[in-house]
Formats: sequence, C-alpha cells, structure tokens
Amino acid sequence: MSILVLNAGSSTLKYALLDDAAKTELVGGVVDWHGGDSTATLHFRTPGCEDSHTLVECSDYRGAVYEILHSLTANGIDKKISIVGHRIVHGGPVFNQPTLIDDHMREELEQISTLAPLHNPPALAAVEAARKVFPDAAHIAVFDTAFYSGLPMHEVLYPLPYQWFEEYGIRRYGFHGISHAYCAARAAEILGRQEDLSLRLVICHLGNGCSATAVRGEQPVATTMGFTPLDGLMMGTRSGSIDPGILLHLMQQHGMNGEHLDESLNRQSGLLGISGVSSDFREVEQSANAGHKRASLAIEMFASRIRSTIGAFTVTLGGIDALIFTAGIGEHSTTLRSRVCNGLQCLNLLLDEDKNRENDADSNIAQMDSAVRILLIRTREEQSIARAAQRIRPGSP
Ligand code: AMP
Repeated sequence: MSILVLNAGSSTLKYALLDDAAKTELVGGVVDWHGGDSTATLHFRTPGCEDSHTLVECSDYRGAVYEILHSLTANGIDKKISIVGHRIVHGGPVFNQPTLIDDHMREELEQISTLAPLHNPPALAAVEAARKVFPDAAHIAVFDTAFYSGLPMHEVLYPLPYQWFEEYGIRRYGFHGISHAYCAARAAEILGRQEDLSLRLVICHLGNGCSATAVRGEQPVATTMGFTPLDGLMMGTRSGSIDPGILLHLMQQHGMNGEHLDESLNRQSGLLGISGVSSDFREVEQSANAGHKRASLAIEMFASRIRSTIGAFTVTLGGIDALIFTAGIGEHSTTLRSRVCNGLQCLNLLLDEDKNRENDADSNIAQMDSAVRILLIRTREEQSIARAAQRIRPGSP
C-alpha cells in the first residue's frame, strides 16, 4: 500500500509516492508542459538513484496521471495506491481541515474556484483525472489556507468597508500553509520545544512564491499573503504588497483594465519586473554578479522587504526565538540569507557565515552567542500532505 500526492500547477503536475506510514518518499517528480503542447517532460527520482527525465505524449492531467502510473510500473514499483492526497491552494471559508473528496465536496470546491482562479482549477482538473485513474483510492484534499483558519480577526480583516467582508468575503486567507505548518513543527522538534506555547517563530518561505508567517506555539498569528497569494513579499513574478492607489491611477489615467493589471501584477512584476532578466533567483543572482544593475536592485528590494517583515513580525510576537528559511531560495541561496540577516543584528540575530555556506538542511546556522536561532529547513510539503491525508482516510482511528 502507498500514498500518492499530487500538486497541480498551471503547467506542471508534481507528484510523490510515499509508503503507507507517510514517512518515506519512494518516488518523486514532476510532469512539466513547458512547451505548452501535447508533449511533456516526465521527471522521475528515486532516493539514491540518478534523476531521469523522458518526453511523454500527454496533453492533460489525466494523461499525466496515467504517465506517472506507467513510469511507476515500468520502474518495478507496483504498490497499490490506497490514498491520493491532493494539494488544493484555496479552501475558502468552508474547508479548514483535510477533507475526503466525494461528488458533493467536488462541487463545493468548484464554487470556491472563483476565489483562486489561477490556482484551484488545475488542482480540480487533477482531482478529476486521478479519481478516474484510481477509482478505488480515497482522494483527500489538503488545503494551503487551512493552517490559517485560527488567525485572529484583527489580522483577517483589511481596513476596508466592513460590508465588503460581509457581502463579498474580502478578508485575509493566507497561503503556503502546508509548508509553514511543516516548518513550524519541524523547528519545534529541532529546538526541542514541541508543545511549547511560548515558542516564537518567523518562517520565510522563499520560492517562486514567497510568504512569511509569524507563529506562536505552532499556531500562526500573522502572515503576509492575503485574500490572494499576490499580497505580501516580493516574489518571482508577483509584486507582493503595493500602494493600491497605483492601480487606481493606472486605471483612471492610463486606461488599464483588470485583465492587464492581473497579468502585470501576477506575471510581469517581482524579480522579473525589476531585473528585466528573469523570475528565477539564480539567474537574477548571476546577472547581478556580472554587474547588471537592475538585477542587483531587484535582489536588494527582495531582501529588504523580507527584512522589514521579519522586524514587523518580531514585534507582533513580542520577540523571536528562531528565524526559519525554507523553499528554493530560502534553502539554497547562501547570499540571500546573508543579505537578509545582515541588518537584523539589532535583534541580536547573528548569522554564522561558515555554517550558512554549508547549506545543510534542517540545521541551525546562527552563531553560538546569537539570541535567535536561524534554521534552514527543507520543506516537505508532499510528506505533510500524505500525513494529513493518511490521518483522515476512511477507516483510520
Ligand atoms: P521553489 O518555488 O521552492 O521551487 O523555488 C524556486 C526558486 O528557488 C527559484 O527562484 C530558483 O532560482 C531558486 N533556487 C533554487 N535553487 C537555488 C540555488 N541553488 N541558489 C539560489 N536560488 C535557488
């Protein structure tokens, strides 16, 4: 028996196969349609082996799920898949727990899709496909927003007319919750402070999407992403928080419509918008090192906003016990971590540059005499999804 985890994006379907206890990843990979046609690349990795990638003919998620199944069988992995855990970005106001997907629940998810038009539809298409390919498995939705269901009301609301909240549901939801929840629990474990309600953490999830969350005793008390995953920190192609007056000005004086603004804010801003080079941090870094001024500026803006958020969240928490870096940039960019921490000495947060350079997952990279631990944690969203799904599978105690 095993658990398959699916994480659908607009042009990718990430997958992982875990053992029945949701502890060990047996296989992981992604089906990637970067070409945008009926051909995709299927990446396949098993622990201790070379990663492989092959071109496959498939134009939709159903084809992709079949290809994943095919490659598992071709590689001699024939464990029965009893649970499929689906990452769903937005659970709306309704879903704040992992939930078994049946036809009724599927319809409710469809309605929530209007809240996350970029993110939920691919996941729903993958749910539909996987239910057809694995009709006997329990399909369980695990939500990125669920971690934030207990956020205090003063963090949930925006300072807007109250009836917008009541009539249109305008509020902060928070995203990347699966990753932040995992990191909070892992940090408590590393620090030996599980179930310590006084533990104060600031977690920075820095990947293509970026968010920070302030956590007390493994519960979030503030987070940067909001009504949508566009809010908060600067990201690969997303702007993060900006003066909303800019949008009014562009609409009123330059005739830009919603579609144009959506495209600009979600896909043409952030690291890409400022550097003009790429949304990929490594490429921006390479250009900056080669003397590209706008690439350097993009990185300085990126780091500065993270630093300010850490400062603000430290005040929210009344202090900070550990700062956590995770996701692609947070886990791998020595220079970004260094840049962020340099300037936070006022919090008595002191980075050990040698440990920082070692890039060891799940390690403390603070100096011995730093008052604040600095942890580099490898996020394991797939494992978290599998565990959450396993806990609520039909028949589990
Ligand atoms: P994610 O969304 O978590 O997969 O993270 C993607 C981001 O991580 C991209 O901007 C990558 O450039 C960045 N990234 C991945 N590996 C590295 C690395 N070794 N150094 C710097 N950035 C990296």
